[in-house]
Amino acid sequence: MLHSFDAVIIGGGVVGSAIARELSRYDLSIAVLEENTDVVCEASGRNSAVVHGGFAYDRNSLKARFCVEGNRMMDQLSSELGFRFIRCGKVLVGNTDEDMKQLERMMAQGFDNGAEGLELIDDARLHELVPAVNGRFAMFSRNSGILDPFLFTINLAENAAENGVKYFFSSKVISIDCRQNSYLLHTENDDFSARWVFNAAGKGAKAISDMLGIEGYRVIGSKGNYLVLDKKLGPLLPMPVYPVPSNTYMGIHVTPTVDGNVTVGPDAITTDDFSYYGVPADKMEYLRKSASTLWPHIEKKDVIRTFSGILSKWIDDNGVIQDFRIEVRDDIAPNAVNLIGIESPGLTAAVPIARYAISLMKERSDIKEKKDFNPFHRNVRRFAEMSDCEKSRAIASDPRYGSLVCYCENVTEREIIDAIHNPLGVHTLTGIKYRTRAMMGGCQSGFCQMKIEQLIEKELGMRPEDVRYMRKDSWILSGKMREGIDG
Ligand SMILES: Cc1cc2nc3c(=O)[nH]c(=O)nc-3n(C[C@H](O)[C@H](O)[C@H](O)COP(=O)(O)OP(=O)(O)OC[C@H]3O[C@@H](n4cnc5c(N)ncnc54)[C@H](O)[C@@H]3O)c2cc1C
Repeated sequence: MLHSFDAVIIGGGVVGSAIARELSRYDLSIAVLEENTDVVCEASGRNSAVVHGGFAYDRNSLKARFCVEGNRMMDQLSSELGFRFIRCGKVLVGNTDEDMKQLERMMAQGFDNGAEGLELIDDARLHELVPAVNGRFAMFSRNSGILDPFLFTINLAENAAENGVKYFFSSKVISIDCRQNSYLLHTENDDFSARWVFNAAGKGAKAISDMLGIEGYRVIGSKGNYLVLDKKLGPLLPMPVYPVPSNTYMGIHVTPTVDGNVTVGPDAITTDDFSYYGVPADKMEYLRKSASTLWPHIEKKDVIRTFSGILSKWIDDNGVIQDFRIEVRDDIAPNAVNLIGIESPGLTAAVPIARYAISLMKERSDIKEKKDFNPFHRNVRRFAEMSDCEKSRAIASDPRYGSLVCYCENVTEREIIDAIHNPLGVHTLTGIKYRTRAMMGGCQSGFCQMKIEQLIEKELGMRPEDVRYMRKDSWILSGKMREGIDG
């Protein structure tokens, strides 16, 4: 089947979702083609979730410019899109003279980049900010923060969908025919024609760039492993604590999440395997020991989960990591915006990246703003965050608010059902998890997973064998163990 759109965005991570949402301000027909079953299966759902200050990136780089801009606009994005963002600050903790010199270099670079709220602090102030930290001094970045990486991306995408963007999941782009003034994209299922193409494919961006005829980019993977600590540790860590970074790696840090857990990581292991997300036991122990030199509360018994993420870094022939590349190659692929090397701080910078990508289109195409663009995401209140009075009212209005499905995170049946009927049509178990926090608590889904599975079946009329965990082929049930037995 052939679908035709004015613009097709390849990749539905945070960058593709930000492009989709920003482009939906214009009078255009737009599609997002995503290989996975949801928008946060790769780097955008697998990171530290820190809103960076902008001091760690080279002067005059796009990384620095878009990081500072993204940081500044995060309060407004959070209030429009309804994801949690906390401007809690962060500290980079040092001990030696060499550490102090590197922090001074970061401060100077930060000032030149336009990063605000940077200050060198002494031992007393450091321990006032983060009582248990090990260190003699620090750089305090007052404007840094943390956000919910799942809902940031999901709500960008859902807001785009509510403004008319069509999402096609399980739609990996496998080849592209470049025609005069248009493109024909072939996916595993359908074909798509488009006047404009945006390559926001993250780890797949080099392959898409090659398909567009823009060849020669070298990329490497850098895998970061993490531990997730139980919520009881959250109150002990008011802000992210980093070691003094090198010029290319931020180091293993401890970070509070907006929901009260603590993450520990990442290490940085060069890899060409962009699909292996397992966290080996030796890496877990390495993370624990290494981060304990910064913050002493990391015990094996408090680790409730591990995860990892893989960055796609653009390198030159000497292996030196390059800036973001956002380009239209009029000589090779006019009408295609090509994004390469969108590594950290891609989460912080996603919306400025999107606006810049669209500005390249606007320079070449006359596009008109829509009058009816709605910047606000549908408001889904979490039951766990309601006051007692609001909870009583919610239960009176719908008794499904009175039925808890996830006891660890206090997620109700009504919230699960709202999430099942999301505007993107995502119906995997992790799709519900990332939208509601069900399955993210101490028991890590032992209690509620099958209840959620049954609700998906009931609400969408699906067969048990068709419900998937996260990816296209991650079925949970394969059939009955004993034939002839119902229920
Ligand atoms: C360990 C780690 C820690 C990080 N920490 C931070 C941080 O604290 N702060 C910060 O600002 N940034 C951080 N980042 C960076 C940030 O997460 C990324 O820059 C950002 O998520 C990149 O978004 P993306 O949309 O480009 O990529 P992705 O999220 O990977 O999305 C790309 C999408 O394209 C899809 N795709 C690929 N190929 C195809 C194809 N052929 N057809 C269709 N779809 C395709 C993929 O399935 C994927 O969903 C971190 C990243 C990592 C890995």
